[in-house]
Amino acid sequence: MEDETFRDHLSTVTKEGKRVWVYPKKQKGKFYTARTIVSFFLLAFLFITPWIKIDGHSLMLLNIFDRKFIFFGLPFGPQDFYLLALGFVTLVVFIVLFTAVYGRIFCGWVCPQTVFMEMVFRKIEYFIEGDSSKQRALDNAPWDGGKIFKKTFKHVIFFLIALLIGNTLMAYLVGIDKTLNYISYPPAEHLTGFIAVMVFSVVFYFVFSKFREQACTIVCPYGRLQGVLLDPNTVVVAYDNVRGEPRGKLNETTGDCIDCHLCVAVCPTGIDIRNGTQLECVNCTSCIDACNSIMTKVKKPKGLIRYASMKGIKDKVKFKFTPRLILYSALLVILLSILSALLMSRSDIKANILRSPGKIYQEMPDNKLSNLYHAVLVNNTFKDMPIEIKTNTPGAEIRLIGKDVVLPSLSVQEAEFMVLYNTADIKTTVTQLNIQVFADGKLFYETKTTFIGSQKK
Ligand code: SF4
Ligand code: SF4
Repeated sequence: MEDETFRDHLSTVTKEGKRVWVYPKKQKGKFYTARTIVSFFLLAFLFITPWIKIDGHSLMLLNIFDRKFIFFGLPFGPQDFYLLALGFVTLVVFIVLFTAVYGRIFCGWVCPQTVFMEMVFRKIEYFIEGDSSKQRALDNAPWDGGKIFKKTFKHVIFFLIALLIGNTLMAYLVGIDKTLNYISYPPAEHLTGFIAVMVFSVVFYFVFSKFREQACTIVCPYGRLQGVLLDPNTVVVAYDNVRGEPRGKLNETTGDCIDCHLCVAVCPTGIDIRNGTQLECVNCTSCIDACNSIMTKVKKPKGLIRYASMKGIKDKVKFKFTPRLILYSALLVILLSILSALLMSRSDIKANILRSPGKIYQEMPDNKLSNLYHAVLVNNTFKDMPIEIKTNTPGAEIRLIGKDVVLPSLSVQEAEFMVLYNTADIKTTVTQLNIQVFADGKLFYETKTTFIGSQKK
């Protein structure tokens, strides 16, 4: 039986429960360059987006406090909760499907934790403290002037970046204008905002300077789900044990792995990929680049560590669509279709009009009868909308109860109105009635309802 004892403990924790600090070796290679380029665009998107406005409104806003959301310029309010919930379910199914096929590709290439850790904070650390061996030596060295300077310099920069991330998060939550306000005025004038930004920044600083890979290996729920999402057909960063084993020194008659440990030395989660797929692996591809560089040196084909499925490696078979993948894909298509249909049918102003329960009709002066109606009005736009409720049914007249309705932006409001009918015009007990809702002078909603009344005998 294969030795699987490595699965019983985390490589970053000693038997005594102490943290083993990971000093991943500086990397270079095709994948690392590609990841750097992808990260550049992701970071540019993250930091530039809060500054982009369309007609004075943020391109993206996640205002959970006021429950106002903007996705790519489209506003959503509390009334759209069902859309957000469906969008979230679709996203989860997409992630599940994607993970079942391509493993943790998201973690290695897109996840903000990996992007910031490996492409921002780690690079700064290499720049200030040098490669892994120098970092280790510095940590073990006594506290002299040089060490104090390097450590202080590094942590000040780390905190400034954490502060930038904290303010950016704030800009996504409350908008760039409010965030700039928080920055421009003394903290005492906006204490809540100031405390929130500081809490975000301290958390980011702690995660990237101290907690690091533990966020992926201990905390991240997505990481914990890998055990149920992956199967032997999933494409992951994998070591080709068929080709690599038995490992041994170069020039010995062994497999292709020369046991140089470079793949372990570059791993930011401190694992040995040659043990097989592990929960700690974030698919960052560093070990692929490292091993490829060794294979090139020893004049053997690249790809001893590569993107492959365990089944593909074992049986040398190509990737296959399993029934589980077909089911996930079908589910995803259905959810996407429903979401698109709901988004496309979403009108700027929505209304729902019903005759109020209770008294059927009331006699009014001037030989008129009245029915009471209840309207629920939804404004899905950025503008406050003056609302008019009218009818084009001959003989009917609408009288609003209370003040004229001005529907605030992204809100739901209720209104009550009466429909008055001349008794002489009533031919049957139930009369068909057409009601129209105008917002800012434009017809948005039209519905047929009934008027209950009877002619005086
Ligand atoms: S095993 Fe390879 S891909 Fe996985 S985290 Fe370590 S270096 Fe990255
Ligand atoms: S880098 Fe490649 S050759 Fe070196 S130990 Fe890892 S798998 Fe073996």
